[in-house]
Amino acid sequence: MIPGLEPVPLRELQALGTSRVWDVEGQLEAMPSLTPVRGTLRAEHRGNLLEVEGSLQTIVCLRCDRCLGRFNQELKAESKELIWLGDEPTEELLAEAGLDSETPDGLVDFLNPRGDFEPERWVFEQLSLQMSVVNRCGDLCPGMPQATPEPREPSTAVTVDPRWQALQDLQSSLQPDGGDHD
Ligand SMILES: [Zn+2]
Repeated sequence: MIPGLEPVPLRELQALGTSRVWDVEGQLEAMPSLTPVRGTLRAEHRGNLLEVEGSLQTIVCLRCDRCLGRFNQELKAESKELIWLGDEPTEELLAEAGLDSETPDGLVDFLNPRGDFEPERWVFEQLSLQMSVVNRCGDLCPGMPQATPEPREPSTAVTVDPRWQALQDLQSSLQPDGGDHD
């Protein structure tokens, strides 16, 4: 938990009448990082909308998908979002708020106006978005680890298939012994 980033009731932000600013410094439980997550976050209640913007950075340790080596990656997020306050917005409501329903500029989410805004979750989401789907340690990636040859199993004695074994037994029973030749 990042200190000071406790959920805050949206009504409290509304009552504030101005934007609230958080200083961010700490570790996210859901995303362990080498350096604390640092930055700032600002949220402003604008009636139907919550405007949130933040500037965040941290360094995480990742594992390369190719060589399986560990490497550090800096994550930086500069984000600005509009969160709709209410049920999923209809086109009319969006139009009223001056937003184009086709391309609701920055409108990404909606929240219950009687619920809470969770600054820490927002920070986590913004940094998660910066993570690449595929992790590569860089241009100097040594590539796939060479498969070390498995020590060979000592070859087991040739075993005869039981069906052949039966045939062999039959053959030897049919063969006359050496003594009958005379
Ligand atoms: Zn690599």
